[in-house]
Amino acid sequence: MLSTIEHLLPTDFPVVTRLATDTVQANLGYLCNQQCLHCHVNAGPKRTELMSRETMARIFKFIEQHPVTTLDLTGGAPEMNPDFRWMVEKAVSKGLRVIDRCNLTILSEPGYEWLGDFLAEHSVEVVASLPCYLEDNVDRQRGKGVFDQSLLGLKQLNELGYGRGKHALNLVFNPQGTELVPDQAKLESDYRQFLKQQFDIDFDHLLTITNMPIQRFGSTLLSKGHFHSYLETLKGAYSPANLPKVMCRSLVSVDWEGYVYDCDFNQMLKLPVDGKKGIRIDQLNVDSLLAADIVTGKHCWACVAGAGSSCGGALSD
Ligand code: SF4
Ligand code: SF4
Repeated sequence: MLSTIEHLLPTDFPVVTRLATDTVQANLGYLCNQQCLHCHVNAGPKRTELMSRETMARIFKFIEQHPVTTLDLTGGAPEMNPDFRWMVEKAVSKGLRVIDRCNLTILSEPGYEWLGDFLAEHSVEVVASLPCYLEDNVDRQRGKGVFDQSLLGLKQLNELGYGRGKHALNLVFNPQGTELVPDQAKLESDYRQFLKQQFDIDFDHLLTITNMPIQRFGSTLLSKGHFHSYLETLKGAYSPANLPKVMCRSLVSVDWEGYVYDCDFNQMLKLPVDGKKGIRIDQLNVDSLLAADIVTGKHCWACVAGAGSSCGGALSD
């Protein structure tokens, strides 16, 4: 895989500063049952990096000292971490809103029969990737058979009350290639109509996320000679109204070893919060984050292009 970091720094991206931290996004490891083309984590079935319970405990210590209301669990497939259930139960007992970034196919993998009931029992919000409502497009991006297996997962979640008024189920769309995301509200309406009519599937919201020119996707762009033109497209579509809303202002991202980053993308680029050396979450000075400059690179244009992009979808209408 080709490295992208040397093409992303230095940058003329505008200065962005931190607000109070209300969300901790924890990457529980790079192990995943899938191996998608666009994956910015480069996750897969052979990865062995997994967050330990000790590191999870350090995250809870940080949460106790900050106005954190949301714990957002990512991976890989976060559910494949052996301590996933321990972490969710502890977070719920502390009154936190818990989000599971679920790839849907994990729900029907052997050994994960407990997962759907567990998520519903703890009212964990599910954010699930479904980059298109057409089988060919999903299978091309995420692997053969993934679309059908994703539908199975969605049906299981619907039966548990997800997307049907009891628990939150949001879907994630990302483009197939270098195009900017289409209008989120219009696409949500198309998804809703198609999935209901064809498969009787319900969901709450569709979140559109712009592809990041890093990791596997960035490497593919570099090898095809499209990397720099993609960066220019993103920068050319800059909408300044998105800048104050970028997710890194109120979020910290923690890697599987407990080191802190301004967001998941910076984590993958190994750009820690202080820009130089990594700081572990238990070593972070409680007040040092407030008003600190966020570490940015040219990849940041993906967050502010067009309608904007974040783990919560578009930033403006
Ligand atoms: S399911 Fe998600 S984490 Fe797993 S390989 Fe695909 S994009 Fe990466
Ligand atoms: S890539 Fe990360 S640091 Fe850059 S603007 Fe987006 S969320 Fe913020």
